[in-house]
Amino acid sequence: MNHAPNLSTADIQRVDAAHHLHPFTDYKALNAEKSRVIARGDGIWLWDTDGNRFLDGMAGLWCTQIGHGRREIADAVHRQMTELEYYNTFFKTTHPAAAKLSEVLAELTPEGLNHVFFTNSGSEANDTVFRMVRYYWQLLGKPSKQVIIGRNYGYHGSTVAASALGGMAGMHAQAGMVPGVHHITPPYWFDYGGDMSPEEFGVWAARELERAIDELGEDNVAAFIAEPIQGAGGVLIPPETYWPEIRRICSERDILLVVDEVICGFGRTGNWFGSDTYDLKPDLMPIAKGLSSGYLPIGGVMVSDRVAEVVIEKGGEFYHGYTYSGHPAACAAALENLRIMRDEKVVEHCANEAAPYLQQKWAEFGEHPLVGEARMKGLVGALELVPNKPNRAERFDNVGQVGTMARDFSFGNGLIMRGVRDALIISPPLVMTREEIDQMAKLIGKTLDDTYAELKKQGRIG
Ligand SMILES: *Cc1c(COP(=O)(O)O)cnc(C)c1O
Repeated sequence: MNHAPNLSTADIQRVDAAHHLHPFTDYKALNAEKSRVIARGDGIWLWDTDGNRFLDGMAGLWCTQIGHGRREIADAVHRQMTELEYYNTFFKTTHPAAAKLSEVLAELTPEGLNHVFFTNSGSEANDTVFRMVRYYWQLLGKPSKQVIIGRNYGYHGSTVAASALGGMAGMHAQAGMVPGVHHITPPYWFDYGGDMSPEEFGVWAARELERAIDELGEDNVAAFIAEPIQGAGGVLIPPETYWPEIRRICSERDILLVVDEVICGFGRTGNWFGSDTYDLKPDLMPIAKGLSSGYLPIGGVMVSDRVAEVVIEKGGEFYHGYTYSGHPAACAAALENLRIMRDEKVVEHCANEAAPYLQQKWAEFGEHPLVGEARMKGLVGALELVPNKPNRAERFDNVGQVGTMARDFSFGNGLIMRGVRDALIISPPLVMTREEIDQMAKLIGKTLDDTYAELKKQGRIG
């Protein structure tokens, strides 16, 4: 059903520009250029109102694991809405969808994570983390343990607490910082590795955490929060030596490990969770995005037995919750999404078919004269664009300009990729077939060639 049947593309763009403030957007620039109006989705494809087709290489915003337009989810939500459209989960009540989803999540997530606190987004999940870790240490009689250590280029959402936990300097500059958050260097070998091998650098970057704990005092540190692979920060895939060393430090020192699985969860890295891929054993595990494949907003925090026991046994009332925590329709969407993922073996398909095939193409893109590094894990990857391939340290002037240029070429070629600084990143639906990956690879190759030709023309490349 079309809710704006009389509006032409130009009309939609006009009212949008007049009234709609978009997220993470330069308003003047957007209004000069006009919004792209997406009308329809099916599988890995999107169509705009002018009938142009795009391959959705970002799975929406890292979330549509099963692709667009699955009728079963619409039907499940419809059934739920006609039965119980809404009720809350405060005040000693629950409903079947929330109860069932909590059981399914306890089954699917790594061992030791058996409770969930529902939220409507990843940001709210990380606000929940912020409150729960401090509450946990208070209940254990250690109220001085307040500081949460995050990483530069980390992304944990856009609410006040979540943006503070993240390490995006621009966000901090616009809103100020929340006290009690500290950031360390991320395991981004391509930028920070210098003369170290990736393996040496992985250990060095992990020991940044140990140095920070020493500096801040272990009695003041509550937790370390990190994505298994940093997504919005540019798909920073840590060297294999990084996570074992972080896990060692978190176990030896008296702090909680919070693993933000909002992107890596639900199959993205080739296992159900990034925590499975890297053997992380999180104390708290925020989830969202792929939980419902984005069909309706829902997130949550998976809580380990270690934390749950304290919060349940030692605590009184936890003064925290959202009106829509465990919303029935959102739970129904998530349940149906997870049913599809299990029945159709979407994670196995990603691990055994789609990811190895795209990774092979990725390695070939690594040979392109514009690409300084091609990295990918599961179905999430980045291509670092550089002016002088033999010298890894050289960068383009005006960081971000070439990334944006390449992103725009990609859109023009009918492929949605994203530019982060001067890298092109990708995170496609997990259900992609080999034929679809072939189609996508062609568009990526053309995008690299177009960008290279333009940079040559501008004299910005050797
Ligand atoms: C997107 C994201 C969030 C925030 O989720 P929202 O649903 O946008 O609030 C948190 N953490 C990570 C790792 C994300 O990628």
